[in-house]
Amino acid sequence: MPTIMSHALVPLSIGIALGRGRIAVPIIAVGMVLAMAPDADVIGFKLGVAYADALGHRGASHSFVAAAFVAALATWIFKPARPALIFAFLFIAGASHGLLDTLTNGGLGAALLWPFSETRYHSPVTPIRVSPIGIKNFISERGLSVLMSEARWIWLPCTVAALTAFGLRAANRPKKFNGNIQNEGSTL
Ligand SMILES: [Zn+2]
Repeated sequence: MPTIMSHALVPLSIGIALGRGRIAVPIIAVGMVLAMAPDADVIGFKLGVAYADALGHRGASHSFVAAAFVAALATWIFKPARPALIFAFLFIAGASHGLLDTLTNGGLGAALLWPFSETRYHSPVTPIRVSPIGIKNFISERGLSVLMSEARWIWLPCTVAALTAFGLRAANRPKKFNGNIQNEGSTL
């Protein structure tokens, strides 16, 4: 897995890119939780669930079906004004976790298509260094190289995409003159 905060960065960036008018801050926070949640499956190691099992690490919890289920549940709980948009945002947030995991260069792949298939998928290219499981293993030289890899392949593209979209929206926003709102390009 990439580190947990890198997973959270995906919905945060999408939320910033789309703006608060479309995705409210609390919904962005829910998306960040859903993007991190699949790795709660590591508890299976303590319970004797094998890594390769359907319920093992990177198994069912990393599938598109699981992402759709939790997105639908959260949309039903929050009853937003635009449910289709919020469902899509939350689904992408959850599904992005498994997809990012397929880009890592270690561990078993992610069972994206569970329950239809238990095949574990890796992307044909795996540029992200896999994060060690457990904080003790993470605080090491390897942890630093994982962070550097994530900075290059996740943080940088997410930040650039979010800031670009944010800048474009700011540039297209109607400007205020003397308390009246004028569309850009209109004459006084
Ligand atoms: Zn994961």
